[in-house]
Amino acid sequence: MRRPLIAGNWKMYKGLEEALAFARAFAPKVAHVDARDILICPPFVAIHALAQVFAGTNVLLGGQNVHHEDQGAFTGEVSAPMLKSAGATHVIIGHSERRQLFGETDEGVNRKVHASLRSSLSPVVCVGETLSEREAGLTLEVVGKQIERGLHGLGQEGASSLAVAYEPVWAIGTGRTATPSIAQEVHAFIREVLSKILGPQAASRIRILYGGSVKPDNVDELMAEPDIDGVLVGGASLEPESFERIVKYRG
Ligand code: PEP
Repeated sequence: MRRPLIAGNWKMYKGLEEALAFARAFAPKVAHVDARDILICPPFVAIHALAQVFAGTNVLLGGQNVHHEDQGAFTGEVSAPMLKSAGATHVIIGHSERRQLFGETDEGVNRKVHASLRSSLSPVVCVGETLSEREAGLTLEVVGKQIERGLHGLGQEGASSLAVAYEPVWAIGTGRTATPSIAQEVHAFIREVLSKILGPQAASRIRILYGGSVKPDNVDELMAEPDIDGVLVGGASLEPESFERIVKYRG
């Protein structure tokens, strides 16, 4: 009942020419995929150009970050209305690289979630524990707090466009994937937390993605888990062929 969402996060890779070459190669490969949402989050500067190539296709575009104000004297920042006008429908918020390298907090994530919803951008909110937190047995506590604080004040309407991405920090870009059962355990817990704060109906509709070294050879088993509703893919979304295989996971 939850339509799978397969999302690519290009991080700070691909200039405009490379991004366009990817899009022209990728769009026809996935043109016949239905019943799955396909999302690519390129660097900001490529969104508008990619929106022209993907117009009329089944590929959606998102930002990798957003500022919490709609406009103002915030040098170097990009707002939700700007993302929207460039052709984005989604935005990744609270990626662990932003939390770790740019000091992003749960409170900041929360402001960005509300800013996105004001502009009808669907937020993909990332949560996940570090290796030391996992080893200390703190995974559920850490993830639970990130969800509760990051989604504070969200109403039913906001919940309807929200996706959550569980991305254990120790699995991102490391080649070390959470096993499907580890991921499923945390996803089921996240759904419980969502149910507590947004109600069971809303929680049952929210897509929870897994992210962390998802590759063509492990996507099928991850997507077979009942609470894994999609994937957020970094490295393996950079080549049209590997991202195509992930989009066409067998489940
Ligand atoms: C990510 O950037 O969100 C990610 C999961 O990266 P990778 O797939 O490369 O681990």
